[in-house]
Amino acid sequence: MGGDPFGTPVSALRGVGPARTAALDAKGVRTVLDLLLLTPTRYEAPPPPKPPETWAVGDDVATTGKVVAARQVRSRRGRAFADLRLDVGGRAVRACFFNRGWLAERAPKGTWALVWGRATSVAPPTLSAAGLRVLAAPEEAAARAAELEPRRPAVPGVAEGVLRGLVREALDATRAAPDPLPDDLRTARGLPTLADALRRVHEPATLDEASEGAARLLFDRLLALALASRARGEAGAAPAPRIVADAKVRARIDARLPFRLTPGQRAALDEILADLARPVAMRRLLLGDVGSGKTAVAVGALLAATAAGRQGLLVAPTDVLAAQHARTLSQWLAGSRVRHALIAAGVPRAERRRAEAAAAAGELDLVVGTHAALSDAVLLPRLGLAVVDEQHRFGVLQRLKAREKGERPHLLALSATPIPRSLALALFGDLAVTRLAGRPAGRGTPTATTCDAASALLAVREAVARGERAYVVFPAVTSETAPALEREGRALTARRGALAGLRTATLHGGLPPAERAAALDAFRSGDVDVLLCTTIVEVGVDVPEATTLVVFGADRFGLATLHQLRGRVGRGERPGSIRLVPTPRPAADSGASSGAARDATARLALLQRESDGFRLAEADLFLRGPGEICGLRQHGHGGALPLREGRDRGFLEAASETAGALKARGYDPDADGYYARLARALGGVRFDPPDAV
Ligand code: ADP
Ligand code: MG
Repeated sequence: MGGDPFGTPVSALRGVGPARTAALDAKGVRTVLDLLLLTPTRYEAPPPPKPPETWAVGDDVATTGKVVAARQVRSRRGRAFADLRLDVGGRAVRACFFNRGWLAERAPKGTWALVWGRATSVAPPTLSAAGLRVLAAPEEAAARAAELEPRRPAVPGVAEGVLRGLVREALDATRAAPDPLPDDLRTARGLPTLADALRRVHEPATLDEASEGAARLLFDRLLALALASRARGEAGAAPAPRIVADAKVRARIDARLPFRLTPGQRAALDEILADLARPVAMRRLLLGDVGSGKTAVAVGALLAATAAGRQGLLVAPTDVLAAQHARTLSQWLAGSRVRHALIAAGVPRAERRRAEAAAAAGELDLVVGTHAALSDAVLLPRLGLAVVDEQHRFGVLQRLKAREKGERPHLLALSATPIPRSLALALFGDLAVTRLAGRPAGRGTPTATTCDAASALLAVREAVARGERAYVVFPAVTSETAPALEREGRALTARRGALAGLRTATLHGGLPPAERAAALDAFRSGDVDVLLCTTIVEVGVDVPEATTLVVFGADRFGLATLHQLRGRVGRGERPGSIRLVPTPRPAADSGASSGAARDATARLALLQRESDGFRLAEADLFLRGPGEICGLRQHGHGGALPLREGRDRGFLEAASETAGALKARGYDPDADGYYARLARALGGVRFDPPDAV
C-alpha cells in the first residue's frame, strides 16, 4: 500500500467486500484514516475479582472459573443468549450473555474464562454478564483482568470484533509511514509519534497510555484545522468594494436604531466600519455573549453598505430567526427608503419568487434569509456585505461567489457560541475577531436553578399570573418524536395538568413553517402565555416579555445550548430565570450511568455558578475536553478522546504556532497527506451547531 497509506480505501483491507464497504461508507468511513478516527468511546475493564459467596444482587463482580457447560439458548422472542456454567473453586456459577449467543462457542467446555457483569442472583451465583475473556491457563487471570477492552460506536453491518480487526489492520498499514509532524516540532510538545499515538488510543494497556495517545491525536486535529484555515486565509485576500461610512451616514444609522448603542456596540461597529472601508474583503467574526446586542451592530454595518449603494444579506440558521430579523428590520426601517425582503421557508411562494427576482435585479437593498432558502444561489448583483448570524458553519460564507468582476463581498459572522478567544483565533486563523463586550443596561443574567418538574411548572404559573410569558423546552425532538411533545403538551394543559387554564402554543421543527411562524407570533403578541417548544428557540429568539424558561431533560443538553436557552429570558425590563429539570432516573440504574450523571450534575452546577458565556466555555473545556466543543468528536461518530484534564490548555496556541512553523518550512497544506485528509475528514469547523429540528 504505497503512497499515502492513510488515504487507502477501506475496501483494500482484508475481509472488506462490497457489503462491509457499504456499511462503513454509511458511517462516513471510506479510508484507512477514517477507520483510525473511529476512536473508542470507552475502555472496558472488569471490576476487581470477587468470590461468588460474597456476591450481593446488583453487585458488579468478576470471577474466574473453568467452563463446565456452554450452551447457546434461543429465547422465545428469537434472541440468542449464551449460557455458561463455570466451576469457581468448586462452586457452580452461571453467566448469561444476553443477545450474544455466539459467545458460547468462544468458551467451550473445558476452557478457563474470566467473566464479569452484574450479579442477578446469589443462589446459585448468577451474573448477567458484560464481559468474557478466555484464558489459556488460570494463572493468566490477573494479567488478563488488567487489560482494557476498547469499545467503539456501533457500525451497523460490521460486528464489533470485525471492526476491531479492521482497526488493527489499519494500524499495521500505517505503522511504517513517516510521521507527518517533524521530530523536533513533536518532541517540543512532548508528544508521542503518530504510530504510537494511534496504537495507544486504539489498543491501550492502561488508561494513562490511552490518554497520552489522545493528546497527540487532539493536537493533530487542531493542527490540521489550523493548517487548513491558514490555507484558506491566504487564498482569501480578495478585492472588495470599499464601503465608507462618513459622519453623516453614521448619524443616519444611529437615528434608525430605537436605542443608543452601548459603548461596547459602538466600539464593535467602529471596528467593523473601519474594515469595510478597505478595498480588501473583510472576514470578521463578531463574538458577543447571548443578549449582548449583536443584531444592532450587524444592522448598522448593513445600513452602511446600503448607504454606499451596495446590497446587504443577513443569513439566519432557522426560518424562525430569519422572520424575526425581518420583523426587526421592518420596525427599524419604517419610513426609510431601504427596501428589504425575507426569503425563507414560510414565505408564500409567489411572494418569495418576487423577492428573489427583485434581489437579482438589484432592486432590493437588504435580503434576510435562511441558509437553506438561499443555498440555490439567490443572486445579489451588488452584494457588498454578507452577515451570517449564529451559524457556525463558515462554509456558507466561503461559498458566496464573487458577484461582480473579481470582487467579493465583505463577510461578517455573528456568534454567541462561547468559545475562548484563543480557540477562535487558532481555528479561524484567517478570521479577524471583534469582541462585543457588555450588555445593554438593565439586563442582568437570568438565574439558573435545578429543580423538579412540579416546582418548575409552578414557577411558570406564577410568572403568567404576573402577566409574564414562559418557555417550556423539551429535549431533542426529532420528526419521529414530535408527536410525543404534543402529547406531553396536551397532558400539561389538560384539565388537571400542571398548566391547566393557561394559553399555550407548540413550536418545533416538525411543524410546517407557517405554523411555526404562527406559534411564535402568538407568543410574541401575548395571545399565548406559554410556548411549549424544542431547542428551536435556542438561538436568537427575542421576546422581551418572557421571563421564565423551564428545560426538561436538562442533563441531556450541552452547556452551550443551556447558556443559549438562558439567554431567551430576561431580555426586557423584568429579570429572568431558568429552571433545569433533570431527567428522572430509575433508582436501579444508579450504578451504570453514574459517570454520565456526575458529568451532568457538574455541568448544571457550572451553569448556575458562571454567567459569562466565555468563562463558561473555558470551564467547560476542562469538563468535557475541547473535542466536544469543537465538534471534533463528531466525525464518524467516533468517541471523545480520553483526555486528561488540564493538559490540553496550551494546545490551541501550540497547534497554531506549529502550523506557522510547518508553513515556514514549505509544508504544503493542500498536498494530499495526513493533515489535509484529517482536515477534510473533520469537515471544517463546526461549533455545536444548533440542532434546529
Ligand atoms: P444577541 O447578541 O444575543 O443577538 P440581540 O441583538 O438580540 O442580542 O439583542 C438583545 C436585546 O437587547 C434585544 O431585545 C435588543 O433589541 C436589545 N438591545 C440591543 N442593543 C440595545 C441597546 N443599546 N439598548 C437597549 N436595548 C438594546
Ligand atoms: Mg442574536
